[in-house]
Amino acid sequence: MEGVRLERRQQRVLILMSDTGGGHRASAEALAAGFGERFGERFHVHVIDLWSHYTPWPVNQVPKSYRTLVTDALWLWKLAWRASERDWLTEPGLRLVGRLVRRAMRRAFDEFQPDVVISVHPLMQHAPLRLLRNTLNSSIPFVTVVTDLVSIAPVWYHRGVDRCFVASDEAVRRAKRAGLRDEQIRLYGLPIRPAFARPVGEKCGLRNSLGLDPARMTALLVGGGEGMGPVGAIARAVAARLAADGREAQLVVVCGRNENLRRELAAVAWPLPVRVEGFVRNMPEWMAASDCVVTKAGPGTIAEALISGLPILLTGFIPGQEEGNVPFVVDNGVGAYSEKPEEIARLLSRWFGPGRAHLEEMGHKARSMGRPQATFEIVDEIVALLDK
Ligand code: UDP
Repeated sequence: MEGVRLERRQQRVLILMSDTGGGHRASAEALAAGFGERFGERFHVHVIDLWSHYTPWPVNQVPKSYRTLVTDALWLWKLAWRASERDWLTEPGLRLVGRLVRRAMRRAFDEFQPDVVISVHPLMQHAPLRLLRNTLNSSIPFVTVVTDLVSIAPVWYHRGVDRCFVASDEAVRRAKRAGLRDEQIRLYGLPIRPAFARPVGEKCGLRNSLGLDPARMTALLVGGGEGMGPVGAIARAVAARLAADGREAQLVVVCGRNENLRRELAAVAWPLPVRVEGFVRNMPEWMAASDCVVTKAGPGTIAEALISGLPILLTGFIPGQEEGNVPFVVDNGVGAYSEKPEEIARLLSRWFGPGRAHLEEMGHKARSMGRPQATFEIVDEIVALLDK
């Protein structure tokens, strides 16, 4: 395996992921960082994107098609998601996946010789487990870390795993329905990068250091890692409304990897202070400097906002895996949902005006639901499995 240098005494952790959406890679990287922070050099963690880097064309194009599906052909994605909830359709589908990635996986296992395998992807339980247990006759621990919050597709769950780590009560219920035993299931929260578990300083100081006005209420607008959804339209409506209502407020718009959006918004003449950023690497600071977050229902952003004690205004969701995140936020009293830019703007203006007490209440509730230690708890338990 190119570029992998292993110290003899190091144990090897192989994380299987695929770049279908930012979440899987982010979770894999959070776990890798968790191993490093907790155990220093004891583990060599290797993250692989089986689809993109180990399979031949055209199979290696699958992750790219995911992005096209959820942006340009949503109807097809909805169909695929519904199909994934039917056993009689998923079984042949998973067998096909198994055939497609079998050789690639064998190569990865042979080259890396892992001591433990972690899957952070819904399609990477069945095929790797079959290969490990039936063909290679290996009994090394295999664990799944589910990177969605509530609407967990049945393919995430496999009865043969040593542990299945989930992040909500609903995910536990679904795991049990899929036949997992209590001792296999652990509820710790999503694996968020360790930076979110560290104190970042108080709000005014942070606003100063980030170049924001320390005295203004601050809304953080994001659209996931890719800057997806109508972020621009929402930013315009919110800025106009807050200015018209005379709120002492400012916006931070994080465009992620959407460079076109960043350029477009950077050129706008805003009616109040608006900071436009591309992909930021210090999200814990931006969140801690803000009073609320306006975002699509991405599980990573929701979990991070809870840790940061931020009320969440949800503006949309990807059908299927993000659907349950909307009632999760609204019913738990940590935010609201609207897809309409005007209504989003009205809500935000209320939160920053007569609804300040409600905003604070939601912030307290959010913080109480945050699970900043989840990554470490997951890593510790995986290591305990190895040490058994
Ligand atoms: N993110 C980031 N910098 C950015 C934009 C997003 O670090 O400029 C991170 C964000 O903190 C979160 C992830 O990207 O960890 C987005 O995950 P989410 O599940 O919300 O949405 P996805 O992009 O996976 O659809």
